[in-house]
Amino acid sequence: MAQQTVSQYEEIKKRVKDVKLYINGEFVDAESHETFENINPFKNEFINEVASGDHVDIHKAVMAAKEAFNIWGRMKQNERLEYIYKIGQLIEERIEDIALFESFDTGLPISQTRKQVARSAQNFRFYADMVKSHLSGEAYQVDDEFINYTIHKPVGVAGLITPWNAPFMLETWKIAPALATGNTVVLKPAEWSPLSANLLAEIIDQAGLPKGTFNVVHGFGETAGASLVAHPDVQLISFTGETKTGSEIMKNGADTLKRFSMELGGKSPFIVFEDADLDRALDAAVWGIFSFNGERCTANSRLYLHERIADEFIARLKERVDRIIVGDPMDPNTELGPLIHKTHYHNVKRYIEIAKDEGCEIYSGEIPAELTSGNYVAPTLLLNANNAMKVVQEEIFGPVMAVMTFKEEDEVLELANDVKYGLAAYVWTNDIKRGHRVSQAIESGMAWINSQNVRDLRTPFGGAKYSGIGREGGYYAFEFYTERQVIHVSIGDHRIPQFGKKA
Ligand code: NAD
Repeated sequence: MAQQTVSQYEEIKKRVKDVKLYINGEFVDAESHETFENINPFKNEFINEVASGDHVDIHKAVMAAKEAFNIWGRMKQNERLEYIYKIGQLIEERIEDIALFESFDTGLPISQTRKQVARSAQNFRFYADMVKSHLSGEAYQVDDEFINYTIHKPVGVAGLITPWNAPFMLETWKIAPALATGNTVVLKPAEWSPLSANLLAEIIDQAGLPKGTFNVVHGFGETAGASLVAHPDVQLISFTGETKTGSEIMKNGADTLKRFSMELGGKSPFIVFEDADLDRALDAAVWGIFSFNGERCTANSRLYLHERIADEFIARLKERVDRIIVGDPMDPNTELGPLIHKTHYHNVKRYIEIAKDEGCEIYSGEIPAELTSGNYVAPTLLLNANNAMKVVQEEIFGPVMAVMTFKEEDEVLELANDVKYGLAAYVWTNDIKRGHRVSQAIESGMAWINSQNVRDLRTPFGGAKYSGIGREGGYYAFEFYTERQVIHVSIGDHRIPQFGKKA
């Protein structure tokens, strides 16, 4: 197996080309000709150069998107949706390839990126279907005097800013509803994961959308990202990333009165009551923190165990941690791969040191000796943690879970809500009333009862508190990506005041 994956690495490395910007239907260098280096997280080797866009390239892309809006925004719906279905189909045809590039670029295990890419194809089909079936207005009868009705219109140029943790999936999550509703797009992908965004540009190019409808400007957050946010011809910004970046973006977009969707960080609790199905809860807790290398916004990074089952549960957790397969991200058996970047690796390691200083007992799995050149952090439990600790309050965004115990329902609810974040929550109990009661009382945008993080595309996705503003998913995305206009129509002779007629 090792032999096979080593050759896979070399083979993909040969196939990776330098990445350009995609503006107005063409792959181009940055106007400045600046580039930045893309590094592979498995070997920490240089992979390729990426064109580094700045305000000049953003302006070009926004102007192209603005021009294209005249065509795309006015196109007959069925014709537009045919393009959206086509993009989904082209992604489907290249799942294996995209997944390999994604794993190569990010360190996410191939068995997991394959599923994400398949989901990405579904995002396009889903939003084409949703526009057909659910993008409809309302009518208000006002006696025999008026009929008022609402319509949805595309907003204009959508600026989409995405993170590196599930790049392809999160990009399509925004691009599909933005394009399907008739907006044109400028995407600014994360600088640490440019490869799959480039494949997406190739696919959308192949689908033949009118030039300028979709554009990609690679570059840094402070230059390309900030210019997109500040551009007066960009009407909306959909952002996924860290909470502090979200807050910075909102400040920078205030002058041009941007409409924002904010999908931000999380520190989600996983609560196991004494009556829960412990086998299933264990599977879900382990998957929820160690899948996607722990770089997952909805990860259950805080585990609360009822004291009666805590010892047994922790013993079984340790066994799992010992056995998690840490390996080459392109090996289908690998369960945990390397973190995206050396900088992020050091951040996560620093948190483990802080946990030690704060009094946690650290329990970690092993990293095979041959993997030392990658950004590997072993699956880690922070035992004997408590809510006063920094490592329980702050998002670590790696394969690290704080483990705590509780006695009473009220107590665990207070602990669950005692963080600034409010993205997801997981409640495990066989008491049906308690399951609903506790889930509803948790301050989070989403909660799962006796379930891992399974999501139906029709449901709203998003966070409460510092985890976000607004909801993506289902028809909730239409509130963000469309302008709802009301048309008031007089159908009778309602009274109109006659100023100036009295004298
Ligand atoms: P990040 O905030 O560092 O970067 C995200 C994107 O913002 C990147 O493209 C970056 O270049 C850009 N950016 C940075 N500064 C900017 C600025 N001043 N103006 C405009 N753009 C700027 O986030 P990250 O480290 O890439 O991603 C990890 C974070 O994303 C975690 O906090 C995670 O919880 C969060 N996340 C949230 C969700 C969700 O749905 N709630 C999903 C995935 C990830």
